[in-house]
Amino acid sequence: MTREKFAAVCRKLSSRDNHALTEKLLSAVKTHRAKHNTPKLSVVWIETNDSGDNNISFMNTTFPYLGRVFAEMIDLLYSNTFMAAQGTKALAVLERAAAMQYGPFTLVVEGAIPVKDDGLYCAVARTQDRYITAFEAVTRFGKLAEHVVAVGTCASFGGPSAARPNITGSVGLSKVLPRKIINVSGCPVNPDWFVGTLAHLLMYGRPELDRFNRPALFYGFTVHRHCQRRSYFDKKDFADKLGDIECMFSKGCMGPKTGADCPYRQWVDHVNWPVKANTPCIGCTNEDFPDGSSPFFTSLSVKSPEHE
Ligand code: SF4
Repeated sequence: MTREKFAAVCRKLSSRDNHALTEKLLSAVKTHRAKHNTPKLSVVWIETNDSGDNNISFMNTTFPYLGRVFAEMIDLLYSNTFMAAQGTKALAVLERAAAMQYGPFTLVVEGAIPVKDDGLYCAVARTQDRYITAFEAVTRFGKLAEHVVAVGTCASFGGPSAARPNITGSVGLSKVLPRKIINVSGCPVNPDWFVGTLAHLLMYGRPELDRFNRPALFYGFTVHRHCQRRSYFDKKDFADKLGDIECMFSKGCMGPKTGADCPYRQWVDHVNWPVKANTPCIGCTNEDFPDGSSPFFTSLSVKSPEHE
């Protein structure tokens, strides 16, 4: 499958025909790996300051289901959430990865990086004599990795972990790691965005990125562009209260400045998304989320007057 065709397949994943399309995606990965004798994508996943929502969302991937992602696409070498090993056994895997005993790997970071007070607000491991902070772990492995993926808005931009008053001094990964990082933002990430990005890395390398270093094939258009209530917006027909069927711009919807394909990809096995569930988009993929979306349920023209 060509890269262009792959991108088209990813863009089309939706509730209407997701099964057939995602089957195409996995079989493309399978064919590619067999043809080029490519191993699965080796992944070291380090979770730092976050709520764990992204790994839960990842577990909700459907077509391909999680088992097939592990069986056919990725080799999850280390994950402080998913792996069965603990303590020294788990750390030994990390050291082997650092020594490149598994070959090139992709670093996935989930969560923001606290930098205040020597980073001690987030330790990812403890040895006999010291803590290994998130800062130490991601900077060390970030330098060694072939690709670096920030999954979720905390890792991408700081997100809720860095929201005011940010007492831990949390920042997005790019603030501590001076190299190209693929930001797969979202609070949480949509599993398709993450699995699609990994599939792209496996077959074609780094995908085309937007100005926030997010894969353009998932974040290239605003939520507003494809929203089912767009005709109401165009007629300036706005909801008076939550639950009304009209456009929710009046209720603080962030769709006009939020890059994501939620209206047609949808969530939870592609069945629903916030506006369809009668709640405004809160802009969770944005670089300034959540402070830039606050106060929620206040119109965007009040939060950001340039959108009036
Ligand atoms: S509900 Fe939000 S995303 Fe949908 S048309 Fe209105 S402002 Fe745009």
